Amino acid sequence: MAISNTFTTDRPVRRIHDARLEVPDDPGQVFEELIAGNDRVCQECYRLLRHYERFPWGVGIKHSRILAFVDEVLPDGHRWDLLNREYFESVREPKRLEHAYTEEGKESYCTGCGTMSPYRSPPPRSADRARDVAVQLSVTLHEFGIAHDWVHLAKRVQELKQRPEMAGNDFDCFSQATEEAIDRAGSK
Ligand SMILES: [Zn+2]
Repeated sequence: MAISNTFTTDRPVRRIHDARLEVPDDPGQVFEELIAGNDRVCQECYRLLRHYERFPWGVGIKHSRILAFVDEVLPDGHRWDLLNREYFESVREPKRLEHAYTEEGKESYCTGCGTMSPYRSPPPRSADRARDVAVQLSVTLHEFGIAHDWVHLAKRVQELKQRPEMAGNDFDCFSQATEEAIDRAGSK
């Protein structure tokens, strides 16, 4: 099976620091928490579109309500008190999310796959499409700094998608393949 040679582990991927990234200890939770449940990631192609940076507290307190790109967060265990609040700015990755003008007005699309609804999960993919998406998923995992066997990830997703009982469930295919790929990197 030929895997896209546009990405190899020989070419280092730039780490992207996300101030709100929390990598789960359990590899079985990584896909669900960091990819499928992450509104910074395109759900069509799993490309990272945005990341969070810390936003100055004083400015956040005053203006967070009018700044749509700033999130107000209360860390676990804190009271809803001004002093305990933290502010994060959602920052676009350059050239990954662009504007388009449609009948509905101004919308954004993912430049990786072209979807106008990057935050909606697509219908089940074909096995070949799933393998291509797995290669992009691998890049995103690298950007998050998560060690994994990327060849296994791509191969395994394609293999699972070819099983009739798994084919309709992309989430399970990607989640299982991601868990195995991380386990394999850890046991080498
Ligand atoms: Zn995309």
